[in-house]
Amino acid sequence: MPVVQKATILVVEDDPEVRNLIVTTLDANGYRRLVATTGRAAIAAAATDSPDIVLLDLGLPDIDGVEVVHAIRSWSQMPIIVVSARAEDQDKIRTLDAGADDYLTKPFSVGELLARIRTTLRRLGYQRPDGAQEQSQVFVNGDLRIDYAAGVVTLGGEELHLTPIEYKLLCLLSRNVGKVLTHQYILDQIWGDASYAGSDQGREGGAPKGDLASLRVYMGMLRKKIEKDTAHPRYIQTHVGVGYRMISVDPNAAAGPDPRS
Ligand code: CA
Repeated sequence: MPVVQKATILVVEDDPEVRNLIVTTLDANGYRRLVATTGRAAIAAAATDSPDIVLLDLGLPDIDGVEVVHAIRSWSQMPIIVVSARAEDQDKIRTLDAGADDYLTKPFSVGELLARIRTTLRRLGYQRPDGAQEQSQVFVNGDLRIDYAAGVVTLGGEELHLTPIEYKLLCLLSRNVGKVLTHQYILDQIWGDASYAGSDQGREGGAPKGDLASLRVYMGMLRKKIEKDTAHPRYIQTHVGVGYRMISVDPNAAAGPDPRS
């Protein structure tokens, strides 16, 4: 396997059985890993060892997972994948709002774990390390191309005609490719906090207020324009009850493993 540089993963998990499963999986797949069993130890390890990815269990013995995310986000954009039990769904959404990138729900399979790590590492290919996000002028993902400066979107070379809100949605998703964006986050970014105030003043052309129902409508219209098969979306994933994510389409999918991973 042409591994250029082994990714280091910080495993934060207090349950020995789950921890062993994760550690064994990472070892078997050539990743380097560090282990922390409390939230405070996780924050310390994230600071001193600069892992490439943090795999963060939400049910920790000392502090809230949201606190861990806030602490790490105060100095770093390192990817954080939250691991939570089904009962912790609300906590999962809170950590995503706090800046976590992705999530895994327990019980998860080894295959799911590895897929999430690969997705995250691929996303890093779009970003500089240490969170210095490259705000490049052109975004390319498979057949999709966005020229941010010109405001032009093409799919397979054909220009797409998007409404202003569809374009904003697409830009938001593409700037966060690989990352799960919660409904709340998207609503805040697209329509702003004013969308909840019940006032149409200052809204562009009396555009509909931002609520979940209209977000779904706009997302549906956007998908019709960018997805060849909306039943099997290639670019935008739905995370039921959570939000949406743009997937980075692997340009080398047919040509072997991604050299960056
Ligand atoms: Ca736990």
